[in-house]
Amino acid sequence: MSSLDRPTPRPGVMNIAAYVPGSDSAPGAMKVWKLSSNETPLGPSPAAREALENAGRHLELYPDGSATKLREAIAETYGLNPANILCSNGSDELLGLLAQTYLTAGDEGIYSEHGFLVYRIQILASGGVPVIAPEKDERADVDAILAAVTERTKIVFLANPNNPTGTYLPVDEVRRLQRGLPGHVLLVLDAAYAEYVRRNDYEAGIELVSSSENVVMTRTFSKIYGLAGLRIGWMYAPAHVVDAVNRVRGPFNVNALAIEAGAAAIRDKAHVERAAVHNEEWRTWLTDELTKLGLRVTPSIGNFVLIHFPENGGKTAEKADAFLTARGFVLRRVTGYGFPNALRMTVGAEEANRGVVSALAEFMGG
Ligand SMILES: *Cc1c(COP(=O)(O)O)cnc(C)c1O
Repeated sequence: MSSLDRPTPRPGVMNIAAYVPGSDSAPGAMKVWKLSSNETPLGPSPAAREALENAGRHLELYPDGSATKLREAIAETYGLNPANILCSNGSDELLGLLAQTYLTAGDEGIYSEHGFLVYRIQILASGGVPVIAPEKDERADVDAILAAVTERTKIVFLANPNNPTGTYLPVDEVRRLQRGLPGHVLLVLDAAYAEYVRRNDYEAGIELVSSSENVVMTRTFSKIYGLAGLRIGWMYAPAHVVDAVNRVRGPFNVNALAIEAGAAAIRDKAHVERAAVHNEEWRTWLTDELTKLGLRVTPSIGNFVLIHFPENGGKTAEKADAFLTARGFVLRRVTGYGFPNALRMTVGAEEANRGVVSALAEFMGG
C-alpha cells in the first residue's frame, strides 16, 4: 500500500517519539512505591477532596469555559490580575497550545540539552524544528541558548528548575536570557516545581512576565498540590498572549472538577508548606545518603534527585533499576534525556526513601 492510499500525518509528526510516562509497575513486589513521576507523597489537600465531592454532583453541566473561579483563586494567591491567567488541562496542554499558537512550519523552537521532553514533542507536532542548546554542568546555559537563536527562532522553552536534573537558573541569568532574545521570540518559563524552591536567588517568572511582552510562565497543580490526576495547569502571560491562546484552546479545556478542586487546593497554604518542608528534609537526606554510597547526585532544588551510577564496574543504572523494581521501588530511567546511566527518583514518603537507600546500599555492595 503506498502512502498515497491513506491519510498522512503532517510533516514532523512521525518524527515524534511518543512520551513515555513514569512506570507504576513492579511485578511480584509486595508493595509498590511509585517514585517515577514526581508526584507528592502527601497527596492533595483535604479541602480539594471535599470540593471534588461537591462538584461531582452536577456532572451534567458544562464547566465555566473561562475557569473564572480557578483563575481568581490563583490571582488572589499571587497578587496577579486574573485577566493575565489562562488555565489548561495540565500544563502539558499549555506547552502544546503555545507551540501551536506561535510556530509555523519550519520555525525553530529552542530547548536545552537535558530539558523536558514535552518541548521537543510539541515543537515537532506544530511543524517546527527542535533546536537543542548544550548545557554546562547539567544546567541550562544562557549563552548557548542565545547562540542558538536564528531568524527562524520563535519560541524558547526553559524548565526552571529543570526536570530531570533539578538544577536551576538564578533570576539574574533568566533576566539576561530575556534581554538577549529578540522581542518577537516567546520565552516560556516552565515553573512546574516552583513551589518546592527555597532559594533567595530564584524567581519563577512573575516579575519577568509583568515587565515584558515576550515572556510567559507556566505552572501546574500536578506536583506540590497533588492533583496530577485531575490535569490542571495555568500560565501567567501578557494580555496579547492570553488573547491569542484563548482563540486556539478548546472551549472547555478545564473540567468542572478541576476548577473546584484547584481553587480549594491553592488556598490551603498550610498543606503546601508541609509538602515543601517534607521535601526539603528528605531531599537533603537522600542526597547525603546516596553520596555516601559512592553515587553522584546532581544538586537538586526540586522534589526529585538525579542519581548517577558508576561508569565502570558493572553497577549500571539499568541493573539498579531492575534491582529496585524487584523490591517495589519504581524510579525513572532517563536515557531519553541524555542520561543512559542515571535514574531519577522522586522524594517520597519516609519509608520509601529509607527503602531505596537500603536497597541501593545492598546493590552497590553486592
Ligand atoms: C511535571 C512537569 C510538568 C507538569 O505537567 P502537567 O501537564 O501539568 O501535569 C510540566 N513541566 C515539567 C518540566 C514537569 O516536570
